[in-house]
Order: sequence, then structure tokens, then C-alpha cells
Amino acid sequence: MAGTKTLLTLENFIGGKFLPCNSYIDSYDPSTGEVYCKVPNSGKAEIEAAVEAAREAFPGWSARSPQERAQVLVRLADVLEESLEEFAQAESKDQGKTITLARSMDIPRAVHNFRFFASSLLHHTSECTHMDHAGCLHYTVRAPVGIAGLISPWNLPLYLLTWKIAPAIAAGNTVIAKPSELTSVTAWMLCKLFYKAGVPPGVVNIVFGTGPSVGEALVSHPEVPLISFTGSQPTAEQITRLSAPHCKKLSLELGGKNPAIIFEDADLEECIPATVRSSFANQGEICLCTSRIFVQRSIFSEFLKRFVDATRKWKVGIPSDPSASMGALISKAHLEKVRSYVQKACAEGAQILCGEGVDKMSLPSRNQTGYFMLPTVITDIKDESSCMKEEIFGPVTCVVPFDSEEEVIKRANNVKYGLAATVWSSNVGRVHRVAKKLQCGLVWTNCWLIRELNLPFGGMKSSGIGREGAKDSYDFFTEIKTITVKH
Ligand code: NAD
Repeated sequence: MAGTKTLLTLENFIGGKFLPCNSYIDSYDPSTGEVYCKVPNSGKAEIEAAVEAAREAFPGWSARSPQERAQVLVRLADVLEESLEEFAQAESKDQGKTITLARSMDIPRAVHNFRFFASSLLHHTSECTHMDHAGCLHYTVRAPVGIAGLISPWNLPLYLLTWKIAPAIAAGNTVIAKPSELTSVTAWMLCKLFYKAGVPPGVVNIVFGTGPSVGEALVSHPEVPLISFTGSQPTAEQITRLSAPHCKKLSLELGGKNPAIIFEDADLEECIPATVRSSFANQGEICLCTSRIFVQRSIFSEFLKRFVDATRKWKVGIPSDPSASMGALISKAHLEKVRSYVQKACAEGAQILCGEGVDKMSLPSRNQTGYFMLPTVITDIKDESSCMKEEIFGPVTCVVPFDSEEEVIKRANNVKYGLAATVWSSNVGRVHRVAKKLQCGLVWTNCWLIRELNLPFGGMKSSGIGREGAKDSYDFFTEIKTITVKH
């Protein structure tokens, strides 16, 4: 019939099979605001089926040698890489991010996650120590935990989902993954590659649906002893409550309120474009994005002018436009939430220098209903304001002056979060001193977002519990045992 579009309809992937669901939820294209996809609205029954499949697959998968498991991960990386463009297009449409970012970051990183953990898996050794006076040898062995529950957010959908699936299966676990209901498409596409890559049925099960329904069913299931979660702090609290009766092993990667600290001796040529990127990349929807910029008073006016000029050049466009720097926000509700923070700041007497409410946005007419917003810079704002305290997770950043090193460290630490920070200075001593005193899990100095996957990733305070990385993920996805032999 003319005018009727066939919607993309996803299915759960359980025990190596695509299975339809009794009910579905709508998924929206952020750049048009139109429903374009149906996502299974799964619940307890689907989690039961997935647990059964994962339980059956566990003995065979965990008994494989690390080399055999690594080969499967490498094949998965290869087949995903062959379809990189198709996945990038799908991720950009589903999430609203620019095609350029999906092509250059999201999908290449998903490919790399499988290659990285395939290789790192082969380099773990156990510990051993001798106790000569007692005639004993002590050593450790590690074993997979069992069925791993993996829950991921919507901002970097495939990137973060594979960051969990890869180490979990490399370590010999079987998994049940639940991607965000707002961005499920690339996870579903990935399932189509499992057969091609030789992932045995039941090793990776992906069940779609909302957090309160299928997410809670997964977290509460007594046969899932471990939950790896990336998302918001309120959800982490609920997951912790539901896991408590079973004493589950938890890894929680949560939000941030990340400061950038810019000293008067910073190289502004480098610092300004990098700070625009750290504030607005992926529409500011990265947990590591900068949202509080502290600038030493002697360079404050110059920085602010140049920063606003550079921000105004940051082009908002439809996600498929290769020249766009920023696409659409994830949902109408999220756009309204982000805007409400700017309105609150205005009501408190802060100044909006560019973006929301100040500049006009022009977009192609068919995109007027999409969830677009201009990158917004706020100043004259107090540290106690909600824009300076709470995670906004959108294209909004605040710029404020500071006088001394001691003062700025105190102010940067004065939030409940502790994920990441950036420090800009050409004084090496200062860079080390400040980095050490900041209460956060990651500090980038004179750069942003350069990642070394071998090293621990994660936050302090309300930004999370646990770390991810080569050794840290392996530790999390395995149980360790100490064995003593008297000889
Ligand atoms: P969210 O907490 O709303 O959802 C995350 C996931 O949890 C989704 O799959 C969701 O369906 C599920 N979920 C929601 N309620 C649940 C429940 N009651 N039980 C079980 N699962 C439930 O977060 P979001 O809005 O998708 O993501 C944004 C947040 O994620 C931000 O706070 C951001 O900072 C954070 N984040 C952190 C990192 C990191 O590595 N630290 C990375 C990316 C995003």
C-alpha cells in the first residue's frame, strides 16, 4: 500500500537461533523523530530460555583451549571488519551520531575489541610461590565464572557491547547480553555474524527489551552470577539492590562530570580544538566528555572568545552528512532533559554564549522533527549550579575562571562523580602533581581520549566500581583459586 513502510523488526538471538517475541517496542530514528524499527519487548520467559541455552553451551566452550577461543574471536573481528560500512551506516542511523564518527571510531573499535581480547587472552599467566620452610608450593588457577550478564547503554552501542562480550567469552564464559532498547540494531546485526565466525550456539545470547523488564529479569536470575553494567548511576543502584540477595559479582561503569583544567601556560592552539571535541563529540553523549572547563584567570577572556568561535564552527547536520561534526541526540526525552539544564542555568543568571536559545539552527526541512541541538557554552555560572554538578550527557559545557592550582583541584573534585579529567599545561611537574590529586580514574594531560586498552579503565566515587582492561576484565570474568601443595 502506498505510504506504508515496512519497519525493520529485530528478533532475540537465543541458542544460535533468531526467535520472534510476543510484543515489540518502537525504536525511533533520532534524525527524523519517526519510528523505523521494532525491538522485542522481552521479559522473564526470554531470559529463562537464554539461561538454558547459555548453561548448555558452557561446558563445551569453557573446555576449549584459550588458543581455540582466541581463533573464534579473531574470525569474529574479521567478519565484522568486512561489514564495517554496513554497520557504520546502521549505527549512525540508529543512534543519531555522525557517519564519520561511526566509521572512524565506533565500528573499528568494536572490531578491535575482539582482536584485542583474542590476543590478550593468550598472555595471562598464573602466580606461583614457594614456601621452603614448610615444604609447600602455592599457585593460582583461574576459571570462567559461568553465565555472564552484560548490560550496555545507547551512546556507543556496538563499541561498548563488544567491549564486554569479547573479554567475557575469551575467558570461557557464556553470555546473555542486553543492549539498550534505544539502540539495538547493530547488536542484532552482530548475531548474524556469529555463525560465520564459528561462535557455537548458546555462547552469546542477545535478548532485547527495556531495563525494568528484561534487564531486571537478567540481573535477578539466580543462575547468572556476574553482571557487567555500563549506564547511569540510578540504574546501577537498582542493579546493586537486585544483585544483593545473590551476592553477585558486579562491574559498574557509570557517569561522569568531567573537568578540563587549563593553565595559563597551555598550548591553546592544541587545547582549544581538543576541548571543543572533548565537549561535543558524539553530541556530548560520551561518559568521558568534558562538561566543566576551568581556565586560569589570566587567559580566561582569550580562551573563552576563541573557544566560542571554534564551537560555532562545529557543524550540526543530519547523521549521514560526512561534513557534520555533530548529529542528533538520542531521543526526544533526552533532548528535553538537556535543554532543561540550559534553561535552569539561564534562570540562575548564567550567560549562554552560544548554542541553545542564542543561535539559530538551520537543518534540511525533512529533519525539523529530529532531536537536534546546537553545541552550547555557558559561563558566569556557580559551582553549586546543577549544570556544574550533575551529568547532562549532551552538548552543553560550562567555562569558569580559577586562580590557583590548589583551588582548582578542590573545585574539580567537588562533585560526586570521578570518571575522567583533562589537564592542559606545559609545566611537566604541574601536570603530574595535578593528575595525582584529581579524584578520578582517568586523567589525560595535553590530550583527550587516547586509549591504551591494556590499562585499567573506570571511575572512582559515583562513577563506578571496578575497572575494565586487559588484566582487569580477565580478573572480573574469572574466579581465582589458590592451591597449596605440600611436597
Ligand atoms: P541507563 O542506565 O538508562 O541504561 C543503561 C542500560 O541499562 C540499558 O540497556 C537499559 O535498558 C538498562 N537498564 C535500565 N534500567 C534497568 C534496570 N532497572 N535493570 C537492569 N537494566 C536496566 O543509561 P543510558 O541512559 O543508556 O546511558 C547513559 C549513561 O551511561 C550515562 O550516565 C553515561 O555516563 C553512562 N556511560 C558510562 C560509561 C563508562 O564507561 N563509565 C560509558 C558509556 C555510558
